[in-house]
Amino acid sequence: MVATFLVTGSASGMGQAAAERIRSSGHRVIGVDIKDADVVADLSTDTGRAIAVEAVLERCGGVLDGAVLAAGLGPIAGRDRMIAQINYFGVVNLLTALRPAFARSGRAKIVVVSSNSTTTTPAVPRRAVRALLDGDPEKALRAVRWFGKRSSPMIYAASKIAVSRWVRRHAVTVGWAGAGIRLNALAPGAVMTPLLAEQLANPSEAKAIGAFPVPAGGYGDAGQLADWMVFMLSDAADFLCGSVVFVDGGSDAYFRSESWPAPVPARMLPRYALRFLGYRRFMHRSR
Ligand code: NAD
Repeated sequence: MVATFLVTGSASGMGQAAAERIRSSGHRVIGVDIKDADVVADLSTDTGRAIAVEAVLERCGGVLDGAVLAAGLGPIAGRDRMIAQINYFGVVNLLTALRPAFARSGRAKIVVVSSNSTTTTPAVPRRAVRALLDGDPEKALRAVRWFGKRSSPMIYAASKIAVSRWVRRHAVTVGWAGAGIRLNALAPGAVMTPLLAEQLANPSEAKAIGAFPVPAGGYGDAGQLADWMVFMLSDAADFLCGSVVFVDGGSDAYFRSESWPAPVPARMLPRYALRFLGYRRFMHRSR
């Protein structure tokens, strides 16, 4: 059966590689990008996102078998507002509007491209993450402003933490898991794409990237990351739900080998018990 997949960021890098692989396995791709795509739309604005949703629904006939959300920006200086808009709202608003189309498929799989910056960037303000999850980009931008020239890595990491948390919150609910949708995130480390090449063109950024601990060495390959995406869109992912899969050469493990997985500490037992006992009500409420 020919399935239909949405791929944002289909014009370059990992999104382009994923779109090529999906097409070459005989499936249909609706590519969305700001350039060179089936649907040309600017995912940094509400209007652009609405245009994208309408055009995708028209092309897929109201049924989507899956998606890769790869459109995004890196931590480029001076682009904080765009980073927040594309990396967070360009994913969340699109997925929310298209959820009924995924539900109609009955077994849709979605891969949101996050980043290992979520766990390897220190001191990201929690307020920025909370503000994005509350739908308030201006508050998120205010929360990182005092970092001055370092604000873009902060809003970048905040946008990827927020989008990962959104994935985990929603993946387990009746509206998503209960509708047969498997919503997961992939967290790459530095992958050789035009995005990374732009960062490496700046000598001080190149120095910082070069000094960053990557136990496996070197950079990730866009084609290999796309293979992971395709795997996460396949039947093999039927039982994968709300996971953030790190493919980052070991940086996350290097920094956090002791902090995750972690046992639930005794002081958290009341909260854990409430969550456990409230499961049925939660599944009912999340309808
Ligand atoms: P890329 O620049 O090669 O591709 C990103 C695509 O997003 C481009 O085709 C671009 O046109 C599109 N895009 C940008 N702004 C847009 C907008 N306003 N509207 C619609 N489309 C827009 O980058 P990539 O490295 O393939 O990145 C893919 C995803 O992976 C991004 O979300 C990025 O944050 C994330 N990521 C990249 C790396 C890396 O090292 N390359 C690491 C971790 C996470």
